[in-house]
Amino acid sequence: MRMIDIIEKKRDGLRLTGEEIQFFINGYIKGVIPDYQASALLMAIYFQKMDARETFDITQAVIQSGQRLDLSAVTGIKVDKHSTGGVGDKTTIVLLPLVAAAGAKIAKLTGKGMGHTGGTMDKFMAFKGINLALSSEQFVNQINKIGVALQGQTKEMVPADKQLYALRDVTGTIPNTSLIACSIMSKKIASGADAIVLDVKVGRGAFMTDIEKARTLAHQMVKLGKDMGRDTIAVLSQMDEPLGHAVGNILEVQEAIQVLKGQGPSDVLELCLTLGSHMLVMAKICQNRDDAKNRLLEQIANGKAIEKLKELVTMQGGDPAPIDDDRLFKRAANQIELLSEKDGYVATLDARLTGQASMMLGAGRITKESPIDLTAGILIHAKVGDWVAKGSSLATLYTSDDMLLLDSARQRLQEAYVIKSKAPRQALSIILDQIQ
Ligand code: URA
Repeated sequence: MRMIDIIEKKRDGLRLTGEEIQFFINGYIKGVIPDYQASALLMAIYFQKMDARETFDITQAVIQSGQRLDLSAVTGIKVDKHSTGGVGDKTTIVLLPLVAAAGAKIAKLTGKGMGHTGGTMDKFMAFKGINLALSSEQFVNQINKIGVALQGQTKEMVPADKQLYALRDVTGTIPNTSLIACSIMSKKIASGADAIVLDVKVGRGAFMTDIEKARTLAHQMVKLGKDMGRDTIAVLSQMDEPLGHAVGNILEVQEAIQVLKGQGPSDVLELCLTLGSHMLVMAKICQNRDDAKNRLLEQIANGKAIEKLKELVTMQGGDPAPIDDDRLFKRAANQIELLSEKDGYVATLDARLTGQASMMLGAGRITKESPIDLTAGILIHAKVGDWVAKGSSLATLYTSDDMLLLDSARQRLQEAYVIKSKAPRQALSIILDQIQ
């Protein structure tokens, strides 16, 4: 087989066979196929697309490029959730203890944040001493013992995805739904869960700004999951404005704790109940979604959800004390307010610009290795539909880094706000669609 023939075949809009796809993935990870040929094929895929069979074949080849996590020693149905990435998205911090408190088993592998969206791994670093590099034995034992464990994705899993993602990132070939579905689902399948709930974000702050594209991606991922023998469901959720009020690592952990204590913002709670109830039904803990939502609310009301978070943090070597006393979290050295320049209603709070402002404060990383400021971020006081008076605070910006960052981040956040004299006609709904 020759790579040039495979490139030309896809360039001309023909379907690749499983063997050709396998040849490409194997050759690429071994370094036999150079970046320029891999890039040419990716661009041909971008323009000519791949059908369901090809998408399945490339996902399987990517999974086979590395190790899979063996969770057979964990009793019961293992559920997992994945978000395509949003601004202020702290749902995983809420769902791990909440769903485990309700009786499901969760094996969560997570990554660092890139770009303007945050990563769960960074957020859990808010707990001093936490170990996110468990051995497979520790990971499995912990799930059997307390129902939940969390760790960073290992280098040995899906190496082909890492290499391909890095190449797609610099060749303009990220936004192909088959390649995105392959990248996300290969990691999920290799992580070993039996059931997967996907949160596909849609809107200004999301990877997918267009609902139809997001729907196509969701259908492709659900089909891939099912074809690979995993019960899979996707929820499309709104990401035009940030989720909740907190953006930035420690700030988001604090907000997640409020949700687990029954005092969190309603949009975060609604999304967590939607995703979490699917997880409980798939884990066969509840028969239907209504029962599952009630069971989740019970775990919040009786304090078991917040106790489960303490148990999770403690088992993984972290200090749980700030969960009871918020003042023990590290605090930002500097803060500044963004004031409203006029009276009116918030018509828009652009999630992407908010995420960028948070990054400018030090909450996100520009390259894979850059350090982040866990205390940096934004607390939003006015969201879409809220009335604000001239001179009142729209948001507080925090950083422990250079004070100068505050002014440029404040400018970016100012651009995120549109304030109008009339109230917006419709409130933004958080759940846009569900695909199973
Ligand atoms: N997230 C991933 O993991 N991969 C993609 O290709 C896009 C988003």
